Amino acid sequence: MKIAIEELAGCSGCTIAVLDLHEMLLDIVKDADIVYSPVIMDVKEPPEGIDIAFVTGAVRNAENQEHLERIRRRAKTLVAFGTCACYGGISGLSMLNSNEDLFSCVYQGVDTVKPNGAIPTDVPPFLYRAFAVGDLVKVDYYITGCPPKEAFLKQIIPAMIKGDTLELSRKSVCSECDRIMGPVEGWKLSRRHEGIPDREHCLLGQGYLCLGSVTFGRCSAACPKNNVPCHGCNGPSLDILREPCRDIYSMMVRRISDLTDKPAKEVEKELYDVAHTMYAFTIGSLIMEDKENSKIRDLVKERSV
Ligand code: SF4
Ligand code: SF4
Ligand code: SF4
Repeated sequence: MKIAIEELAGCSGCTIAVLDLHEMLLDIVKDADIVYSPVIMDVKEPPEGIDIAFVTGAVRNAENQEHLERIRRRAKTLVAFGTCACYGGISGLSMLNSNEDLFSCVYQGVDTVKPNGAIPTDVPPFLYRAFAVGDLVKVDYYITGCPPKEAFLKQIIPAMIKGDTLELSRKSVCSECDRIMGPVEGWKLSRRHEGIPDREHCLLGQGYLCLGSVTFGRCSAACPKNNVPCHGCNGPSLDILREPCRDIYSMMVRRISDLTDKPAKEVEKELYDVAHTMYAFTIGSLIMEDKENSKIRDLVKERSV
């Protein structure tokens, strides 16, 4: 069994999540050779005849696209690994800024570079938008999470290598969360740092924007269990993904409206920074943008050419 891990536009955190399997890696390499992974080994390009390629990161520039198409040709099974690969992830947020702004920020605007440093002209050109891997090539399996969580990977990676099948939950984060819905009175949206939520009741009911109901599970509701609202890092729940008329923003507005008895228009006025709160992990996904009532089209101001 030959395994490869390809890196596109991402933070490499997904590959680190594989390394975080620690001793289990020793069992994995008894059955499989890791033949290519730019983060963990010095092999310049993937060989032919890969059995499973895990692709991490979104497709943001021409080099990402070339590398994706190359690994697709060379791998029997391709897995979109992590939310950037599945839905564009954090890399997709780059579409909120122009190319010019992005380049001047990276090469001139941060403290670790010299002011007025030169912007290189030989970096791969951006595509006109960010893409999820499945927007451009056939994907055999999707593993979401930013990054996918250790307990989940421990279940599925050995099974994939051995060719075993598993029954996995298809439910949302809320289904894995044991908080109870408390009285919802005088609901007012609060940011995460504004107060300390009570640990027993639903965070959304307390006014914290918890996306658990619109987010795919398999993380054991890690954030709500630690008193932090879910910010949607596993991507959309299956009902949102499947139904063309369901979208993260509209479903959250409806949920809050039902919970608080406020008219939807009033709820919409309270929600702000929609790009970062609702679509932080999915803005770069064509599937999510193409939904009938998606707000992504309005949020993306300028496309790269
Ligand atoms: S999904 Fe998250 S951890 Fe993985 S590459 Fe993207 S930003 Fe990094
Ligand atoms: S909205 Fe958040 S806090 Fe409430 S039940 Fe769902 S995951 Fe738990
Ligand atoms: S609770 Fe939400 S933000 Fe936290 S790990 Fe799970 S999906 Fe990601």
